[in-house]
Amino acid sequence: MTACSCFRILIPHLTYDELYEAIRYKEKGRLACTYEFYPEEGKYHFDGHRACNVSFAPEETKKNNGICPVCKRPLTIGVMNRVEALADRPDGFKPKGAAPFESLVPLKEILGDAMGKLPASRAVDEQYFSLIKAFGNEFAVLHAQPAKLRKVAGDRVAEAIRRVEEGKVKKVAGYDGEYGKIIIFEEGEKKREVGQQTLGEF
Ligand SMILES: [Zn+2]
Repeated sequence: MTACSCFRILIPHLTYDELYEAIRYKEKGRLACTYEFYPEEGKYHFDGHRACNVSFAPEETKKNNGICPVCKRPLTIGVMNRVEALADRPDGFKPKGAAPFESLVPLKEILGDAMGKLPASRAVDEQYFSLIKAFGNEFAVLHAQPAKLRKVAGDRVAEAIRRVEEGKVKKVAGYDGEYGKIIIFEEGEKKREVGQQTLGEF
């Protein structure tokens, strides 16, 4: 999942070499944008110990000298640590003239969060396929017009997709074999809404 990305090309008839160069150098004139999943969703993004419930960003690992504070054994080192070790530019640096990127979340995960169900559940599956039928494909759903989306998918799913598009999500990084999570609606928000629904029934 972490290595996944796709792209949109501005010029439709590029040769193989031109296509390679457009992607390699991320030239703005040829490459419109790249689409990526959040690397935090990967199973080994941060360092840590799953059994000890310890998840560390690289700087915390450094402070602890690479040792787990619970079991005192070496931590399982994740991808971000290696990225930091190899980095020659600060976090968030964007090379001049580089095509922009957009972070996506798989539609089933968005629906699961919005509906309070597992992404692999039957309810999510049904909603997923009805949206694919309405818009043509997953990418079109994620970039649909808000008004149309609200009409077809309902306010809550439309709001979830809007938040993903604007990058207003909480990222809980994966570590030591545990998948990371993208959280769209906070726990408090969910409880408030359930409370309102309960009140509405009386
Ligand atoms: Zn440990």
